[in-house]
Amino acid sequence: MFIGHWSAAFAARAASDRSPKLGTLFVAAQLVDWAFFIFVLLGIEHMRFVPGITAMNPMDLYDMRFTHSLIGSCIFAGAFGAIVWVFTRDRFAALIAAMVVLSHWLLDLLVHRPDLTIDGAPPMFGFGLWNYPWIEMPLELGLTYGAMWWNARRTDGPPLPLVILGLVMLAMQAFNWFGPPPEAGAAVAPMAVLGLVGYAVATALAWWVGTTRRHR
Ligand SMILES: [Zn+2]
Repeated sequence: MFIGHWSAAFAARAASDRSPKLGTLFVAAQLVDWAFFIFVLLGIEHMRFVPGITAMNPMDLYDMRFTHSLIGSCIFAGAFGAIVWVFTRDRFAALIAAMVVLSHWLLDLLVHRPDLTIDGAPPMFGFGLWNYPWIEMPLELGLTYGAMWWNARRTDGPPLPLVILGLVMLAMQAFNWFGPPPEAGAAVAPMAVLGLVGYAVATALAWWVGTTRRHR
C-alpha cells in the first residue's frame, strides 16, 4: 500500500472539522514509513530487493521490528497523538491523529507478504494482496480516490488544488507500479531517500489543499 494510506487522512479530515489539518493527517498516515525509511538509512531497520518476492513489490522487508510491529505502531500513534494534543489541547483531534497513524499497519496487513509482527518477533502477518494486482490495484485506487471524493463532498474550496494533489499522487503510484524495477541486491538507500522525498512532496501539497478548503 502506497498512496492508499492517505485514504485514512482524507476520510478523517472529511469526518469532522475538529480533525487535524489535512497536511498533519498526511504525515500521520505515513508516519511509520517515514520512520522506516529513516531507520533504513541509519541501519536500525533493514530491507533488500528480491525481485519476484511478491508479484507487485520487490521489497523484502525482513526487519521492520520497531516501525511495523503492532506494538511499535501503537507507540508511534500515541506519540503523534500526544504532539497533536500539545498543539491543539483537543483530545478528539489527538485521538483522530493517533487512529490515522494506526491505520497504516492495518492497511499494510492487507497487502504485505507475512513480514508484519505484533511485537517485532515472529509470528509474521500479511494477507499478501501484492500477489494479486487485479485486486490490489482497484482496491488501492478505490480507497484513495473514494476518500478524496468524500472529502471534496464534505468541504468547500476551489477544485484545482485537490485535482493537482490527486494527479501527483497518481503519478507517484504509477511510478511505483510501472517504473523500472530495482535489481536483486541493489542499494536500498536511494529508494529510502526517494520515498522520503515523495512523502514530503505529497504532504506539502496536502497542506496547501488543506488551506484552500473549509467544511460545509
Ligand atoms: Zn508501511
